[in-house]
Amino acid sequence: MTQKLVIIGAGMASGRVIETLVETAPDVFDITLFNAEPRGNYNRIMLSPVLSGEKSYEDIVTHGDDWYAQHRVTCRFGEHVVKIDPERKVVEGQNGPVSYDKLVIATGSAPFIIPVPGKDLPSVITYRDLDDTNAMIETAEKGGTAVVIGGGLLGLEAAAGLAERGMAVTVVHLMGHLMERQLDEAAGYLLRKDLEKRGITIRTQASTKAIIGKDRAEAVVLESGENPVCRSGGHGCRHPPRDAAGDGCGP
Ligand SMILES: Cc1cc2nc3c(=O)[nH]c(=O)nc-3n(C[C@H](O)[C@H](O)[C@H](O)COP(=O)(O)OP(=O)(O)OC[C@H]3O[C@@H](n4cnc5c(N)ncnc54)[C@H](O)[C@@H]3O)c2cc1C
Repeated sequence: MTQKLVIIGAGMASGRVIETLVETAPDVFDITLFNAEPRGNYNRIMLSPVLSGEKSYEDIVTHGDDWYAQHRVTCRFGEHVVKIDPERKVVEGQNGPVSYDKLVIATGSAPFIIPVPGKDLPSVITYRDLDDTNAMIETAEKGGTAVVIGGGLLGLEAAAGLAERGMAVTVVHLMGHLMERQLDEAAGYLLRKDLEKRGITIRTQASTKAIIGKDRAEAVVLESGENPVCRSGGHGCRHPPRDAAGDGCGP
């Protein structure tokens, strides 16, 4: 008799789980797959080539609609699971409940946003999924400046992609050198030089105090009081942004 398997999250981990199950135990489970994103599994680590324009979303899809249909996976995409009742063995999706015999929770992680004033302003974008990537691409189409807070792997991939799309990018990093979890100071220095050659401005030992703007994020203010996007006044600038795009400094 088939067992009802519910999987929450159609990401990298559950993609592999389902592949293995359909290969090794094809008739054992009747699978229902929930995903908060309105799509199935794609190769999340390839979002950066999508951001930079080297690849399209279609290039990085790992499991398309046909694949799920072929393996009789019931897809509930664009639907959050909001409750799990382990006593009754039922999960509640936004569009209704599903009972299960076995449950896999593969919901990944949520991006951390530094708790500074202005963090909820429109145009503050996290980097986790395709919607974030598309939001950055749409923003980059208008040109202007971008500040990337965080000079770790994801921040630098975002910075490189936005620069590739023509934005003037400044990376604001809290620590003394880039990617300090992976690189020593010398390697961090070489990486910085390479990024600067691509036109990206790097500010290390720079702590973000606030994100400011009226209807959208227009500038970042550092603990030192500086506006790191200043082009006219150099790194010591404390001017407010010159225009609504946060582009450069006012007089
Ligand atoms: C741009 C980028 C580059 C990366 N590069 C690398 C790399 O080079 N090397 C590396 O090792 N890792 C990299 N990572 C990290 C890697 O992508 C993650 O570690 C991996 O995707 C985690 O897989 P997962 O299946 O646990 O979660 P995810 O792939 O995040 O999938 C989880 C899914 O669950 C869904 N979900 C969450 N909550 C619910 C809910 N309540 N109901 C329904 N669905 C829900 C989410 O919408 C999501 O689609 C990168 C990540 C990003 C964003």
